[in-house]
Amino acid sequence: MLSRDEITRYSRNILLPEVRRAGQERLRQSSVLVIGAGGIGSPVLLYLSAAGVGRIRCVDNDSLDLTNLQRQVLYATSDVGQSKILRAEARIKELNPDVETDFRQVRFDENTAGQLMEGVDLLLETSDNFETKFLANDTAVRYNKPLIAGGILRFDGQVLCISPGNSACYRCLFHAPPPEGSVPNCAAAGVIGAVAGVIGSVMAGEAVKILLGQTGAFGRLQQYSMLESEWRTIQIPRNSGCSVCAPSAR
Ligand SMILES: [Zn+2]
Repeated sequence: MLSRDEITRYSRNILLPEVRRAGQERLRQSSVLVIGAGGIGSPVLLYLSAAGVGRIRCVDNDSLDLTNLQRQVLYATSDVGQSKILRAEARIKELNPDVETDFRQVRFDENTAGQLMEGVDLLLETSDNFETKFLANDTAVRYNKPLIAGGILRFDGQVLCISPGNSACYRCLFHAPPPEGSVPNCAAAGVIGAVAGVIGSVMAGEAVKILLGQTGAFGRLQQYSMLESEWRTIQIPRNSGCSVCAPSAR
């Protein structure tokens, strides 16, 4: 049962017919894994914890750099030089002490992925490298858990929600990581901070919907162009030859 304080804190959620108290309790019983506590990870963590998602596990292995503050809105100038994951956990606890946090200063890699998936209902991938994006996809498919993957560069961002076995996965769309150095990252090509805010917010919204049992935007690539002030949604077909999610591969 929700406490009186919880009913007050989440009243704007609970007012919605799609949420009510039962939905709020469902959010409280949910457990998510957020890969990365950076530009996209910041709004993801803020909105999921504010919404009352009960357990949030997060991994990030970096320390905060002055260049991060332009888009990583979880952090303050006084955090520069400190461990991001420790500062992020403190910030999230301050925002919502009801959230059970499990923030770890590790990389999401072949060695840690299995352990990090324990008890997780949903993954959100917010990293800035293809190796992690593909590993998150393959792990979500292996554990049969929904994945929301987001990416940003310059004035553009995109989100793909994946329901393994039911919708296209990241590898159905992109097949394999591009050759090293062939696609620039934000450190090389730049990005507008608000694009990270837009994409992280969309991801948090999709996560809340999925956790509530609403239909997520599975298999639809949502692309945002800030320069053109435009959203484009493309239905991605499953690839029957996909090396991870095709029936023959599973
Ligand atoms: Zn696939």
